[in-house]
Amino acid sequence: MSSKHVEEEGDASGVGAPAERCESCGGSPRWERISDHWGERWLGVCACGRIDSFFPDRRRREGPADPLTLFLQGHLAPRRPATPAWVRLFLHSLQGETPTLWRHGFDPCEACSARTVFGLLAWPQPHLAGLCTVCINCGYTVSAYSNPAVKGSEEVLIGSTWAPACPAVKRLRECVRASQQPARHPLDDSDESAAGHDR
Ligand SMILES: [Zn+2]
Ligand SMILES: [Zn+2]
Repeated sequence: MSSKHVEEEGDASGVGAPAERCESCGGSPRWERISDHWGERWLGVCACGRIDSFFPDRRRREGPADPLTLFLQGHLAPRRPATPAWVRLFLHSLQGETPTLWRHGFDPCEACSARTVFGLLAWPQPHLAGLCTVCINCGYTVSAYSNPAVKGSEEVLIGSTWAPACPAVKRLRECVRASQQPARHPLDDSDESAAGHDR
């Protein structure tokens, strides 16, 4: 909570547009805009992983505590009682000492067409690569497992049932868990693991 009063917009610079530069790395975030009767809001995702939000008609100037939920639900809407399971998974994955490194997908979601698809690569088992994507707007999940050493071993599961979790969602959860363990790529397993810290 801030003890400062909400400042009214004094100078107009930058009020009507989201930041062009990422505050973390100086790169150019990709901004998505939603505007409906619950307010206009923007979500910016930078290649470095930083997520920013921008709410031009929101009166409070300090950043929201949960910008992603605010972006998805609209800041003028009454808060919904429950955050969807896929948003909870996503937010949870960004916390802790080894947050999941998501990539923002360039293609719109096949189920809902929103450009809110995030993907990750993980190693749920030493010789099993998991490439998963999830749409944080609707929960649509694609999980592809393969053994890179075996051609044609790829198995793709698709689903958006979260309770109880369908096989695609179970694999996504598995990959998020795996992505939060210290990196264990099979190629690193040989003799580098003890001495490979000084590059
Ligand atoms: Zn950045
Ligand atoms: Zn979707």
